[in-house]
Amino acid sequence: MKKQLSTFFRPQVLEAMAEKQYDLIVIGGGITGVGIALDAATRGLSCLLLEMQDFGAGTSSRSTKLIHGGLRYLKQLEVRLVREVGRERTILHQNASHLVVPRPMLLPIIEHGSLGKYSTSLGLFVYDLLAGVAPNEKRSMHETETILNMEPLLRIDIVEGGGLYYEYQTDDSRLVIEVLKTAVEYGADALNYAKVVDLVYENEKVVGVNFLDSLAKKRYSVRGKQIVNATGPWVDSLRKKDNSMNDKRLHLTKGVHIVVDYQRLPLQQAAYFDVPDGRMMFAIPKNDITYIGTTDTNFTKNPKRPQADLGDVNYILEGVNQVFPTVKLQLDDVRSSWAGVRPLIHQAGKSPSELSRKDEIFYAPSGLISIAGGKLTGFRKMAERTVDVVVKELYKKEKRPIKNCKTAKIKLSGGHFKQPDDISDYILQLTEEAIGTGLTEKEIEKLVYKYGSNTPIILDILEADMRHKLPIRQKILFAELQYAVNYEMVCTLSDFAIRRTGRLYFERDELDDIYFDILDELERLLKLSKQVKLAQLNEFEIEFEAVVAFKKTLTLQK
Ligand code: FAD
Repeated sequence: MKKQLSTFFRPQVLEAMAEKQYDLIVIGGGITGVGIALDAATRGLSCLLLEMQDFGAGTSSRSTKLIHGGLRYLKQLEVRLVREVGRERTILHQNASHLVVPRPMLLPIIEHGSLGKYSTSLGLFVYDLLAGVAPNEKRSMHETETILNMEPLLRIDIVEGGGLYYEYQTDDSRLVIEVLKTAVEYGADALNYAKVVDLVYENEKVVGVNFLDSLAKKRYSVRGKQIVNATGPWVDSLRKKDNSMNDKRLHLTKGVHIVVDYQRLPLQQAAYFDVPDGRMMFAIPKNDITYIGTTDTNFTKNPKRPQADLGDVNYILEGVNQVFPTVKLQLDDVRSSWAGVRPLIHQAGKSPSELSRKDEIFYAPSGLISIAGGKLTGFRKMAERTVDVVVKELYKKEKRPIKNCKTAKIKLSGGHFKQPDDISDYILQLTEEAIGTGLTEKEIEKLVYKYGSNTPIILDILEADMRHKLPIRQKILFAELQYAVNYEMVCTLSDFAIRRTGRLYFERDELDDIYFDILDELERLLKLSKQVKLAQLNEFEIEFEAVVAFKKTLTLQK
């Protein structure tokens, strides 16, 4: 039987771990860490991943949720990066077609903006070439009238034509979980709520870690031949513990997104546009909402719970209202928000937006391997480079030949489709099979774009639920929850409502009506004690308020 990322298997993982010396321990369960775990497991290395919060709870659930082709790198003349991320995008689309979906992106040219008509046309042409863009997704340039027809909400007097190109939309925290589930299928062990508190040394070399299971409040020690620090914004904290800081260090910057009802910013397609201070911003429709961002400001606080403040939100609202003036978005329109911290590498004299998004590996004298910088989009190549270092070190010690990276050919969990285009037929097929259950095609479609080829498992759970009087929407919700507990190590209400389903960001109003039901069901499934249940409720309600907390600042100011 394949291994499974189940909440119920935590005790087994903890027990088995004590006796083992892993080839690799990965610290950090964001996209960088899970990518490394997948690469290592598929090369046959024994691997343990430890995450102190929930998987993806750091930056990897707080991005713009795009698998970029790398257009911004072209502006910075980072040609190698454009080529690499362009290829990565195609690979990810093949291997996780349900989660990495092409979307047309409008690029209006704004009077006195940062984009010129001819430079944009040339830039997009070079980009198509370097990124190896598919023929049906190549850029097209258009006159003002056509652009205004494509997007009637644009401000007529400042638009001077524009372009249309493709970006790939994703769900970052679901990407994290699908990568990790695949790593576990290939043999990796993984735990959330497992904070590495110390590194363990022998003869000045790192040989293991001590960690705290914050659910059971127990400490453990585990041995590993190689240890990778993939803790994103926390990379330097571990490097400091290891006494291995050098002249390279992280530079954290905060990025905020806001969410409004789709009807308040009903764009025909996503848009990437200039804002008055010379930066650019995305506005991206997704089901019933449109999300807009991002900001880019220096950040020096604790990265655990970054939050949007009033200044961030006003900056975004001003930017949108400038380019789409008739919508007149206001603070009250904002339904939710999220803020993330970019773990970039410091470059003296550069502003947040100018800092390179390149990744870098630091190899410390203790043997600790740290990886910093990078993007969601490039995670597979970052993992390949990191595991190449691990493999080289293992070979030095043990002369054990280990295979090369093969993740380019590995379908992610939920991504088992021959071709990305097969998804539409798959939705129709599942809709037909679900006749009689009360599920609509729309509901099936939503499930497929979340869980891909794993959707039938959820439908089976739903059919087996004997609580016939429950409304169908609640049955879907409970089936998703049961799946999440059994296959995605959901331990808390927040894990499910925020990271596995994105409901806090994209469906906050609906969530308000159902989060008690979710918690009751979770209590039933996991047999939570009253005390734990209450703690989970409190923790969730803090998050629930935090995404609109900036509105309170305004009330206080009034
Ligand atoms: P994280 O996701 O932060 O993961 C690190 C993990 O380590 C955390 O979960 C943390 O809890 C854990 N950890 C820390 N210390 C310990 C410890 N002691 N023990 C155990 N665990 C520990 N990239 C794109 O490609 N496309 C985009 O559209 C995009 N948009 C972005 C927008 C914003 C606003 C931001 C901030 C970033 C964006 N990025 C984007 C970049 C991308 O999101 C990040 O590069 C990426 O998510 C970083 O992942 P990570 O795994 O390195 O860090």
